[in-house]
Amino acid sequence: MKGTNGSIGRRKFIGSVTAVAGLGMTPSLSLLGQPAQPDSARMAPGNNHKGACCIASANGLRATSRAMELLSQGYDTADCIVQGVRIMEDDPSDNTVGYGGLPNEDGIVELDASVMHGPTHKSGAVAGIRNIKNPARVALEVLRRTNHCLLVGEGALKFAVRMGFKEENLLTEASRRDWLAWRASMSRIDDWLNDEQRDAPSGKVWLEPGLESGRGASLNPRPVPYHTGTVHCSIVTGKGDISSCTSTSGLSWKIPGRVGDSPIIGAGNYCDNDIGAAGATGRGESAIVTCGAFDIVQRMAKGLSPTEACLEVIDSVVKHCLKEKRHRDPKDPSRPDFDLKFYALRKDGAFGGATLFSGGTFAVHDGHTAKIIPAAYRFEKK
Ligand code: ASP
Repeated sequence: MKGTNGSIGRRKFIGSVTAVAGLGMTPSLSLLGQPAQPDSARMAPGNNHKGACCIASANGLRATSRAMELLSQGYDTADCIVQGVRIMEDDPSDNTVGYGGLPNEDGIVELDASVMHGPTHKSGAVAGIRNIKNPARVALEVLRRTNHCLLVGEGALKFAVRMGFKEENLLTEASRRDWLAWRASMSRIDDWLNDEQRDAPSGKVWLEPGLESGRGASLNPRPVPYHTGTVHCSIVTGKGDISSCTSTSGLSWKIPGRVGDSPIIGAGNYCDNDIGAAGATGRGESAIVTCGAFDIVQRMAKGLSPTEACLEVIDSVVKHCLKEKRHRDPKDPSRPDFDLKFYALRKDGAFGGATLFSGGTFAVHDGHTAKIIPAAYRFEKK
């Protein structure tokens, strides 16, 4: 039976989930009583997809292709997505993850990642790991070779080295320059001088190759915002086995030691082989306090489409974050002043994504082609 909007009827889906999962859940009345979702949720193309599928955040288009290629070669779902995500981690031009990720406020790159494997319901994660460019691969080793779920900081690095990972400097020249520009942009309130505050030298300046002073020139006095960005990737096989992975360098210029949502199971990544998977990118603290990824999967279990489930949790984020003045957009206090995106993939192959603001996209490989598609959203971008 098709629903009136062309999607699987909600009742039918609840039936299929409970049959597959043996969950015996009844749909929550409050969920079924929700007002109709905006068109972007009801018409989302992913609602009707069936079968093997891989989704990712918009920067992960190549990850979806690689993951599906490996799936067709018989690799485990966790390997497929970790190897897919590795492409972004290795890419110095993606400054949100792995090598080239933007550093913390001390100029040091600290990475977070997690992997969850549906068939075994195991997870592995590392947080605040330095000098290792593929934290998702280390997370998979934690999952497979330890009795633990999460290793942090020095312990995570030591474990990685013991597993054979190579230590290297992750700060690229481009990321180092961005970090310096950010430091200089704060120089009204600290001891770092920006171009405006520096007097012109009275003669030629000695240019020392390899040192910042050697450039003589400016630190590009552009405003340097906080940057967000992460790669999330989930995959489901034709038989309904699921794995999910999230990898990030976290919020740029973060306080050293800060851990975001990406390595926290239930916040920036979650997977239940009976139901589906979900992940988040954007302001991680909001995904943590709402248990975002876990909540999306629970809502799919109750019959929502992946897109609807993502949008409902976006609404929960909005409701909670607006309690704090610092999160309200000064121009419109009914809106948050940050962005957050959720992605969801259901056991039957349906998929979706939702963001706070219009204009968001995500990547999908539907078994035939990899493409970028629009995400549903709660607020029209002004
Ligand atoms: N969610 C990541 C974190 O909070 C960052 C991001 O996606 O931009 O660490």
